[in-house]
Amino acid sequence: MEEDCTKYKIRRDFNVYFTRNAKLDYYRFPSIMVNNLKDLFQIDKTSPWEIIDELEIFIGKENCSHLLLMVNFVIGVRLFTYCVKNQQHDAIHICTATRHLSGAHLQDVLMDTTASSRDVITIPFTNLLQHFFLRYMSCSLSVPARLKDAANKSPSSFKQLMQGCPMYCGCKYCILLAKLLTNFQADDVIDKVDVVLKSIEESWHHKIEPADRARDIVFGIIQKWYLEIEDYHSILKLLQDELQSNQHLTSSEKANLLYYTAECQTKLEEYPTALTSIEEAIKMSPASDLFAHMMLKAEILHKLQDYTQLEKCCKRSMELQSQCVPKLNVTKDTLEIYYYYTDALIQNKEFEAALGYLEKAKSLCKQGEEIHWTFKQFLQRMITCFIALGKQDNAEYIRKLLEQHKNK
Ligand SMILES: [Zn+2]
Repeated sequence: MEEDCTKYKIRRDFNVYFTRNAKLDYYRFPSIMVNNLKDLFQIDKTSPWEIIDELEIFIGKENCSHLLLMVNFVIGVRLFTYCVKNQQHDAIHICTATRHLSGAHLQDVLMDTTASSRDVITIPFTNLLQHFFLRYMSCSLSVPARLKDAANKSPSSFKQLMQGCPMYCGCKYCILLAKLLTNFQADDVIDKVDVVLKSIEESWHHKIEPADRARDIVFGIIQKWYLEIEDYHSILKLLQDELQSNQHLTSSEKANLLYYTAECQTKLEEYPTALTSIEEAIKMSPASDLFAHMMLKAEILHKLQDYTQLEKCCKRSMELQSQCVPKLNVTKDTLEIYYYYTDALIQNKEFEAALGYLEKAKSLCKQGEEIHWTFKQFLQRMITCFIALGKQDNAEYIRKLLEQHKNK
């Protein structure tokens, strides 16, 4: 059973949000769990409900109700997908691309069709899903831990250990993780990081899973949550509290927090303060992370219409680019620099120079069938430059090219 539990264990960290395939086995865990307990306590029944009935004298009424909820939930979801799609669905996936505040639910994706299948079912009962995950997470944590404690012990004490095995934790951290797996709702109360950490300390599970990494995870989830409800003022408060109160931050972590701060201030259209924040971030940032920071600075300078500084910022970014971790990829990053740089050059009336970069940008925009979103903007700027330089024929040629792409 320990092996089964480890195999089907839910990762209790921020990665649950990104690891979509991990959900493949959600359906299987409850029945595997029930069957293992059946063997352990030598119960001679076949249906999961009968087994759970018999288990009551061994693991208690409360734990049985947790098992029952999980087993029934899985059957319910399977029935639901069957009713809606008239066929079996074998996996639950979070479809991040389709997560919106109003309609964000865990997505049930039909796995046996192609990977690009759009045959997605939304599971509408979010609260029930969260209850399911709370029990799943707890069981996959407590059961293997109990079995480890029970190793080398006699079968009777082994059973005794299982009797007191907790199968549910409702601490604020577990609830936060369950919400991360499903959905944040607009009326959810968002606790402070310290409140969540205190709640972990009071739970049973911190004895099994030390909470030393929890701080970063909790911080990340709360930040993400505010982001989903677009509450930038609360993110700012969160970031500023962290910058002031956390004494253990490395300069790289500080730079990141300042980057997020500048990003929020930009969203709130507080451009001068955003500029101050990003400049502080740039001072502290390791050289390899500088590119993303410089691009945010470019965006802010662009909003401030400070084209002299913008030109400098773009030149510096071009010098730095090869030594930095790419933001998206080299081509898209280059296009982003050119997007700001060519506008700065045009505003500073350096049309010849602008044209040189616009030509480069134009050819970079077409990668196979795909045309980058900036393409039409670059053509438009080329027209501006040609007209400013009195080259009407060239302007006309680009205008025709633009017409061809207008309807695409
Ligand atoms: Zn907990």
